[in-house]
Amino acid sequence: MEQPNPSIFPHAVILPMPAQGHMKPMLRLAELLCLAGLHVTFVNSDYIQARLLKSMDVAAFCSRLPGFRFESLSDGLPPEHPRAGRLANDLFFSTRSVTKPLFRELLISLGKESGSPPTCVIADGLMSFAVDAAEEVGIPIITFRTYNASCTWVYFHISKLIEEGEIPFQGDKDMDRQITCIPGLESLLRRRDLPGICRLEEIENPVMQYYLSETSAMTRASALIINTFEELEAPVISKLGSLFPKVYTIGPLHTFLKSHIKHSSSPSVSSNGSLWQQDRSCLAWLDSQPSKSVVYVSFGSLVSLTRDQMMEFWYGLVHSGKKFLWVIRPNSIEGEEGVGQTPVEELLEGTKERGFMVGWAPQEEVLGHPSIGGFITHSGWNSTLESLSAGVPVICWPQFSDQLVNSRCVSELWRIGLDMKDTCDRLTIEKMVRDLLEDKREEIIRSANEIARMARESVKEGGSSYCNLEKLINDIRLMCL
Ligand code: UDP
Repeated sequence: MEQPNPSIFPHAVILPMPAQGHMKPMLRLAELLCLAGLHVTFVNSDYIQARLLKSMDVAAFCSRLPGFRFESLSDGLPPEHPRAGRLANDLFFSTRSVTKPLFRELLISLGKESGSPPTCVIADGLMSFAVDAAEEVGIPIITFRTYNASCTWVYFHISKLIEEGEIPFQGDKDMDRQITCIPGLESLLRRRDLPGICRLEEIENPVMQYYLSETSAMTRASALIINTFEELEAPVISKLGSLFPKVYTIGPLHTFLKSHIKHSSSPSVSSNGSLWQQDRSCLAWLDSQPSKSVVYVSFGSLVSLTRDQMMEFWYGLVHSGKKFLWVIRPNSIEGEEGVGQTPVEELLEGTKERGFMVGWAPQEEVLGHPSIGGFITHSGWNSTLESLSAGVPVICWPQFSDQLVNSRCVSELWRIGLDMKDTCDRLTIEKMVRDLLEDKREEIIRSANEIARMARESVKEGGSSYCNLEKLINDIRLMCL
């Protein structure tokens, strides 16, 4: 049998979409590949790299991981662009035109370096220009979709949904109509649970067309990586196997790294991959709270709230009588500045002993804290995986993209939370908080504990994700032959 050439290091060039929820799991994968002895070039946008330099000790991180390096390229947007909310979609088009040629040049120049030319590209499933670039330069490409398997499978059926006349919808008509044309998910999804793009009024909308072409380009990759685990989504994962020669489910990546490091002799190198400085003062506050008594509230890195929505959450939380830890990201209230500005400061007056607010939390640690009893989340996939791994039940308030599918899986398939999709009123919030922490807790906690157990097993030696990660590493090594 042929053996890999020991003088050539396998070298993965990793390209995430330049956004928090995409960069973070791909950085975790990069760390794991480096710990296994591979070289990694991690390609951020200049904008993301500048923010990472402010929020983590990049030099120390790189020095502890031999073989790891960052590169950065323009994302094509001016520095003052918010890159959040619906404006985040601008990145789709700017990266295609501006980043693509730069990425191609980078691959060519890395190929000229002695020692370890790129063995493969691992690119975000929403950065399909990387497929073109890798094909042009002749490097194998693996696609990493940062959504879960069910949602990834739904995206492969958008054309079918159009053919069947399921989308576009007429306004918000018939939102509870069952969607039956996606094999394996026939009894799960209603119209309102389809990905955010299905609510666009025209098929010709450039964002709809973007998703259609990105999803189709993914199938030109030699393999698919998903941050999920077999036990969670086995039937759909096997269906994805009909579209890709190989599917590696290697999640939950964030727990993987922790469990790997615990058993490894390497120094702890884990980055938190945060684009904001974490306010760790909330951990001391949590220490002073009773077990399972606090609701953690966070809507991730992109969702913004109107002032009215913010007020509904605040009333609902205060009237539930429960304590809460709330992340108000800078600029996340439409038209307001966040922590330190009205209305947040004013609102907190009189409820300070009940609520604690931060601009950005160490979320994984918060979810692992014994005082946390529940999580109000926008159902981003990382937040969902982090809560399900920690066994924390959730209330879902999904806004766009894969969040609408995730919240349905959480409430109906895995039964580890409640879905308050398409509503935002104080009475519902108050009731759901009480249900989650008291009235429906027993039933939900049973499933949450079971799923958390399966997640832990999957990343242990011999577990499904553990074995899949080993296969991925070996397959990359074999590409050096
Ligand atoms: N996050 C964090 N601190 C916060 C809020 C979020 O560290 O205060 C992290 C969270 O742990 C998750 C990521 O930001 O890993 C958000 O990713 P997700 O997919 O949940 O949502 P997105 O930001 O992509 O909408």
